[in-house]
Amino acid sequence: MAKPEFETPPLEDWVSTPAVQPDAMAHVRPFVAKPEYQEPLGFPGELVENWQDVALDKMGELLGRYRSLQVFMDACVKCGACADKCHYYLGTGDPKNMPVARQDLMRKVYRRYFTTAGKWFPKLVGAVELSEEVINDWYSYYHQCSECRRCSVYCPYGIDTAEITMAGREILATIGVGQKYSNEIIGKVHTIGNNLGLPEPALADTLEGLEEEIEEDINVPVKLPLDQAGADVLLVTPSADFFAEPHVDGLIGYAKVFHQAGISWTLSSYASEAANFGIFIGNYQNMQKVAQRIRQAALDLGVKRIVVGECGHAWRVAYSFWNTLIGPFDFLDPAYPVPQHICEFTHDLNQRGVLKFDREANDDKVVTFHDSCNVSRGSRLGDTPGGQFTIPRDLIRASCAHFVDMAPDTIHEHTFCCGGGGGLLTDDLIELRVKGALPRAQALQQVIEQHEVTHMAAICAICKSQFTKVLPQYGMGMDMIISVHQLVGDALVFGSEH
Ligand code: SF4
Ligand code: SF4
Repeated sequence: MAKPEFETPPLEDWVSTPAVQPDAMAHVRPFVAKPEYQEPLGFPGELVENWQDVALDKMGELLGRYRSLQVFMDACVKCGACADKCHYYLGTGDPKNMPVARQDLMRKVYRRYFTTAGKWFPKLVGAVELSEEVINDWYSYYHQCSECRRCSVYCPYGIDTAEITMAGREILATIGVGQKYSNEIIGKVHTIGNNLGLPEPALADTLEGLEEEIEEDINVPVKLPLDQAGADVLLVTPSADFFAEPHVDGLIGYAKVFHQAGISWTLSSYASEAANFGIFIGNYQNMQKVAQRIRQAALDLGVKRIVVGECGHAWRVAYSFWNTLIGPFDFLDPAYPVPQHICEFTHDLNQRGVLKFDREANDDKVVTFHDSCNVSRGSRLGDTPGGQFTIPRDLIRASCAHFVDMAPDTIHEHTFCCGGGGGLLTDDLIELRVKGALPRAQALQQVIEQHEVTHMAAICAICKSQFTKVLPQYGMGMDMIISVHQLVGDALVFGSEH
């Protein structure tokens, strides 16, 4: 990878609060979506003439629709508890990347147009007009938030900056200033069924190739079925699992689990994507339309269960939104959770003694685990509180004898975003992505030094792609990042090894 034209922050013993550097990241903004990416999603192709009116109407609509947004606009007491909790502030020093300041970009406009005090005494209450300058700041800094919700964990009022970011992005798209990366991807899912635009023949070829690879490797005919009507399980997984490294080894791991458990399963060429970028742009219509394909595929294939692969935000959408967006799921088998995460699925099989592991297969590794934001703070796993933290770790420990956690204030609900979540995994934001990865890289460096950690496992496709790209900037190998189900798949014992 060519060296980017910015300085990677140095790794220190611990992440310290950086000196404030006003506007340090004002130049960073993703490409704006062209009309061909805006219009299919129901947004205007370019900035509309009366954009102030349209933006304020939309803001009023969102304030009315989401009570939480109204509360978040009113509740902040400027205590500052969130100020140094965002990885983008820690990595950049730009004060507009402090969560409270990010919120204020919208709050100032809210006060001007939606509060009496702001209408009559704007200066007294810090209210501002919705100007071009404000909109430019919105575009930059609402695309420097990965909607990870870390700041909300520390806010005494539970203010969730992620929701404000989502509202900001939706307003921007509604006036014709959407983000190219996310909108282009959503369009591909609507037309082809996955983020990559991978059509059915290419997907079928890829899966066949993987079957051959697995058989060559372990001499067992593990299948990766596509469009198999009547299978028990429909697996929806991020499309990066079909070809990207290290994701694909996770997919191979899922296939081995299904094979060993003897449970029939299938992928769908119509809904070959678990990811749902509709959440990133804060637009429920698009989120619903993307999710709808999965319901339809499950109905068409006549499956009894839906299992979701390793993808953080996809799991958040499935866990928190599917029932409202595309439920009810009364056509599925009520004996199983709807939806079910692949980690829950594998964990359950392991607890029932269905799987046979040999941890020696991973004896060359010392593993740590990166909790993904959307799983940690936007959903959960299993039927006990904190299952989203224990279940992946249980699977790692079942597969590998050497596991160590990173520092307590960087894991579980305190986990740091990888720096590429929330629709920011695009090369036009590489500076932000590298700098935003600083806190996680720092915590990883600590366990490398103290425990000789060789690998960091994850259950999120975005985290895996992001770390593969940014860890080398911090002097770490891109192959340090690994799928939890690669560890699982490599440790499963087959055939004569039983
Ligand atoms: S949601 Fe995450 S990225 Fe956004 S301001 Fe809060 S900590 Fe930063
Ligand atoms: S922690 Fe909450 S109340 Fe305090 S400044 Fe941040 S958003 Fe406002």
